[in-house]
Amino acid sequence: MTVRVRFAPSPTGFVHIGSLRTALYNYLFAKQKGGKYILRVEDTDRTRYVEGAIENMIEALAWAGVEHDEGVVLEDGKLVQKGDFGPYIQSERLDIYQEYIDDLLEKGHAYYCFCTKERLDKIREEQKEKGETSGYDGHCRNISMEEAKERIANGEDHVVRLRLPENKNITFHDVVRGTVTVNTNDLDDQVLIKTDGFPTYHFAVVVDDYLMGITHVIRGEEWIISTPKHVYLYEAFGWEAPEYVHLPNILNSERKKLSKRQGDVAAKDFKDKGYLPEGLVNYLALVGWSPEDNQEIFSMEELKEKFALERVSKSGGVFDTDKLNWVNAHYIKDADLKEITDLAIPHLIKAGYITEEEAKEKYEWLCDLVKLLQEKVSYMAEIIDQVDIFFKTEIKPEDEQAEEILKLEHLPHLLEVLAQKVEDAEVIDEVFGKAVFKEIQKETGYKGKNLFMPVRVALTGAVHGPDMPLTIKVLGKQSILSRIEYVKNNLL
Ligand code: GLU
Repeated sequence: MTVRVRFAPSPTGFVHIGSLRTALYNYLFAKQKGGKYILRVEDTDRTRYVEGAIENMIEALAWAGVEHDEGVVLEDGKLVQKGDFGPYIQSERLDIYQEYIDDLLEKGHAYYCFCTKERLDKIREEQKEKGETSGYDGHCRNISMEEAKERIANGEDHVVRLRLPENKNITFHDVVRGTVTVNTNDLDDQVLIKTDGFPTYHFAVVVDDYLMGITHVIRGEEWIISTPKHVYLYEAFGWEAPEYVHLPNILNSERKKLSKRQGDVAAKDFKDKGYLPEGLVNYLALVGWSPEDNQEIFSMEELKEKFALERVSKSGGVFDTDKLNWVNAHYIKDADLKEITDLAIPHLIKAGYITEEEAKEKYEWLCDLVKLLQEKVSYMAEIIDQVDIFFKTEIKPEDEQAEEILKLEHLPHLLEVLAQKVEDAEVIDEVFGKAVFKEIQKETGYKGKNLFMPVRVALTGAVHGPDMPLTIKVLGKQSILSRIEYVKNNLL
């Protein structure tokens, strides 16, 4: 059996990181089994339609490296469908749903319902008052097909509902949760076709998963309560149901479902903050799944090899930003300098440190700046907290230790020698940055703590910081001289 799985988002315009993790697990499982991973667009809820949403979703998935083999793809900025099981957009499959609903109606597994919204609201109210669980009361179950057809011909609004048998146990196996059994008395006669003629999610998902040959349905746990209805539909059609895998929710620190109201939840939010896709994906893989050993850093290739559905946990995984940052920092350290410089630039512009023009003109310099701070940030937006000293001449001693160092007796002389050497140098690069300390040491005898720390404090205000030779290169001639001048005039 060839494994075929799908990620089936509604085009709401963004990919929630919970959805990205669902997509990732589908992808990893398919790749591991030599199967196919499909992207299907579930757009049957026309009220939620958002322009450009499908394109945005595909771009976010491509950024994360979770790319599908079949389904809706972007080619030269246009949406096209790739694969033999299409169309992969549900709103283009209405004829197919019609054919299958006719089949169910004919077999008596579905019926037309003419109940108005007012009536449904009224029974819900009454049920609530009596303390009963709300649900459809089966009012239209026994309307004959003849009468129904006549009422439809007369233009009466209607839906099609699933006719669930009474008091029947529906059982299915879930890879994460084990055996699940639900009695039909606890279920509603689900609407399958809505008044606008569109199928509901529940009907379309079953028809499509079947016709697209889906072998494993891997999705969020919020769908597990709907699964018995889906399983019954498979039975009504005489089809074999797929394997089910319901993934635990991603929770916030208060152990509630992570929602948009609490800040960043879209994959794009993390992209915009300057996280690397490898970091986000690596971290997300670990929210809800754990390997047998304690490994935490995984390349996509390793994930494909080691990921196991059997090790997906039942309980929700907390989204831990500190851990994400730790994982991402690992990737930032090894990242291509241009890649992370490009991620840092929008933040430097936004914070007012540089203009768009300067970003182009000073690109090489920005690369050096980023290289200097590469090991000090977890994601590129954080660079803003570290760059101030490179844009301001006014040195401020960072703490008491820095203040003490500025009081050192030999500091004025040290700075004078340094200023002269900088003045005389043709280029201020890393080689100069290294050599200058050796020279000063030879000439003045100042060394170790009396040499490096005072220079660092005078040039940056801080006692500790990034690599000194590169710091000197990044600061450059003018800036070093102005700082020494400032320190001499204001702080000594
Ligand atoms: N369209 C559903 C969603 O938006 C898909 C659920 C499923 O995978 O069955 O999450």
